Amino acid sequence: MPSIKDYKIATLGSHSALQILKGAKDEGFETICICMKGKTKPYESYKVADRIIEIDKFDEFFTLQDELIKEKAIIIPHGSFVSYIGPKRMNDVKVMHYGTKGILEFESDREKEREWLLDAGCRMPRIFDKPEDIDVPVIVKFHGANGGKGYFVANSPEDFYEGIKHYPGNEKYVLQEYIVGVPMYTHYFYSPLTEELEIMSFDKRYESNADSIGRISAQDQLDAKIKTSYTITGNMPLVIRESMLPDVFEMGENVVKASRKLVGKGLYGPFCLEAIVDPNLNFYVFEISARIVAGTNPFVHGSPYTWLRYDEPMSTGRRIARDIKMAIEQDRLAEVLG
Ligand code: AMP
Repeated sequence: MPSIKDYKIATLGSHSALQILKGAKDEGFETICICMKGKTKPYESYKVADRIIEIDKFDEFFTLQDELIKEKAIIIPHGSFVSYIGPKRMNDVKVMHYGTKGILEFESDREKEREWLLDAGCRMPRIFDKPEDIDVPVIVKFHGANGGKGYFVANSPEDFYEGIKHYPGNEKYVLQEYIVGVPMYTHYFYSPLTEELEIMSFDKRYESNADSIGRISAQDQLDAKIKTSYTITGNMPLVIRESMLPDVFEMGENVVKASRKLVGKGLYGPFCLEAIVDPNLNFYVFEISARIVAGTNPFVHGSPYTWLRYDEPMSTGRRIARDIKMAIEQDRLAEVLG
């Protein structure tokens, strides 16, 4: 019988690697962490990696491939992996890879992503083709903005042209309706083996300075000429109103279904719908991450939702390893590799 002892689980040391590697070890896999020199401390301290391979720059990943293939390593992609390797180079990854590589291109291309989510029936913020069309508050998002830094909000075309003066050289942007509500990020897991969608957990982000501006009075904000930015610094766990869960399941199922029209086997494994929920409980989805998100990190020991389903600690990282383990033991590994 095929055994998990023949395989290893590997990822890049960043983002959600602690959780992924811990989850893999809990399922009985040996683990490899590919890490930038000088950044190995967390992976040593938390003892999640059986082996740490140090590299000087992320590009070196490609020179390690032969060795990883020999080790029968299975790579788990995460946000930093996709951003360092680049969605276009994902096809150069020859090491076994959990998930459909091609789907990652859709999360990094705003237009392709929007078509997919609209096709899945998601409600999304409006997009304005040109500043003159602005008739509600919009959030101006620059292409390639680093972690939400430097977005600004404009209420009218005049407001936009005034605001954009502070961002010289940023000619590529999207004008998205600004939804007044609360951010809610749903962490899903779809297993191609069980053909079932699970809700693993929810989080909201802790963004600097957006999440602390409310600590000073409006007058002080004006006096200090504070500009809002959304630089992500961490994540906070959430549970949502139980009556909203049926819709959240349906949204996830529709997104998985729609993905099958896009590429290969479509979307499976972990993914996240990033939404703002307005006071009428409408979910406005503004982004999808087609792989594990860092918002699952508060749940290394499971979430209230995984406790309902599993009688053991089940993080998203561990759920990935469980899927791979099931696939190996049922001789169906090819079904989870992409
Ligand atoms: P993003 O870089 O698209 O993930 O956005 C960064 C942050 O900006 C999010 O976490 C939200 O706090 C906020 N944000 C993004 N899009 C919207 C929107 N359409 N309406 C309100 N807030 C938004």
